[in-house]
Amino acid sequence: MLLQSYTLDVINNHCMPAAQSVNCIARLDQDVGCAIPYLNAVIEGDQFTPDPPSVTFKTEGRLISVTERTITVNAVEDEAQGRKIIDWIKREINEAWEDRENIKPRYAKAERPQVVEVLKRLPKTNCKKCGAPTCMVFATWVVQGAKDETQCPELKEEDKRKLHDYLAQFATDG
Ligand code: SF4
Repeated sequence: MLLQSYTLDVINNHCMPAAQSVNCIARLDQDVGCAIPYLNAVIEGDQFTPDPPSVTFKTEGRLISVTERTITVNAVEDEAQGRKIIDWIKREINEAWEDRENIKPRYAKAERPQVVEVLKRLPKTNCKKCGAPTCMVFATWVVQGAKDETQCPELKEEDKRKLHDYLAQFATDG
């Protein structure tokens, strides 16, 4: 089995007290990067990045991202529901990897910026200085085009440039 275990972090969205108000990040004990192109083929991910490998997709209104060492799920009711979804993704990863000889890996590149890629370039302190309850929410706003790298006051100049360069790949002319 490729992915055997993980540690779960639960982040409360205090500014979104409605029923779906928790984000979950599973920190994976094994590297699943090799399985991501196969998972992308099976689940028909919305966004794929080849290097480093990551895939993002939506199911039942939730955004789910898988990278080499993390599975992130937003807008779940509580830890139990987040764990259930992450266990389902874990099974999908392992089944895609075990069946890889019968699956054509999908390497289609992302056409839009990915939440997980933006989040990776943020300080991840959840300080709220940008007006977002968490860095993940801010990353979602950046992907939607509502915010940009200049609006996180905690970003150092070098990291600001890195995020700018990442977003510039997706800029359209005119
Ligand atoms: S200001 Fe930056 S570090 Fe603070 S929560 Fe917003 S995105 Fe995260």
